[in-house]
Amino acid sequence: MDLLIRESAEIIRESKFVMAFTGAGISVESGIPPFRGEHGLWNKYNPEVLDLGFYFENHEECWFYIREIFYDFFADAKPNKAHKVLARMEKEGLLKSLVTQNIDNLHQQAGSKIVHEFHGNSKRLKCLLCGKLFSSKEFDFKKIPPRCDEDGEILKPDFIFFGEGIPRDAYENSFADAEKADVCIIVGSTGEVTPASFVPRTAKQSGAVIIEINPEETMFTGPVTDIHLKGKASEVLSKLEKELF
Ligand code: NAD
Repeated sequence: MDLLIRESAEIIRESKFVMAFTGAGISVESGIPPFRGEHGLWNKYNPEVLDLGFYFENHEECWFYIREIFYDFFADAKPNKAHKVLARMEKEGLLKSLVTQNIDNLHQQAGSKIVHEFHGNSKRLKCLLCGKLFSSKEFDFKKIPPRCDEDGEILKPDFIFFGEGIPRDAYENSFADAEKADVCIIVGSTGEVTPASFVPRTAKQSGAVIIEINPEETMFTGPVTDIHLKGKASEVLSKLEKELF
């Protein structure tokens, strides 16, 4: 493992365009459970509450669960060492782009600047009538659903629900970066969610070396990954940091 980390650090140092692709696993050590797996959110909640069609028909019920999952449980989550190492790599010029499937804002809180939010961000709410954006900090969520102060419309969290398209800028920037990357570091993603999982696959097809950080094997591990750093995100990235700086 230490040898693989050293080899990864060398490849990263010698590369011109390193990108990262992160999934729910990077935030597990911040106390946010993933969707899938033994302790996943879908063991407790019905994914229907994040289905766009169901949401439009059942605002009140959906907002009850949305508040509980995203604004009660996760409100106080802080970036962990893994988020911080990626932010430091960007600051020191070793990481040029970060694509995240996460909606928890923890990369930005850790200091990352170039973050393509493939699935949006739970810290923003959007009025679907007039398009106005609000910070979730403006609401205490005691009274739900939150409403637009311009037109009274019910606000929707600005992350994508099942059945919704990927935000255009994030989509285009993510794939453009994947095409020019010479290294893609995948952290904590099963690779089961499309089209997000096509981002590292595109990097691979464009010739990038794929380094995967995950305690488990995933859909990337066999066909896509070149170097699997098997372990928790914060532990592996701490070791990589020591090799890099
Ligand atoms: P996933 O839930 O499908 O899988 C999580 C992956 O993380 C697994 O492969 C697991 O082995 C790995 N993992 C668990 N603990 C880890 C650790 N400490 N370090 C490194 N890896 C670890 O995640 P996904 O592939 O991102 O897909 C889930 C979808 O759900 C995404 O689209 C994402 O938008 C959304 N989601 C986001 C959050 C968040 O914002 N934090 C949380 C849950 C789900």
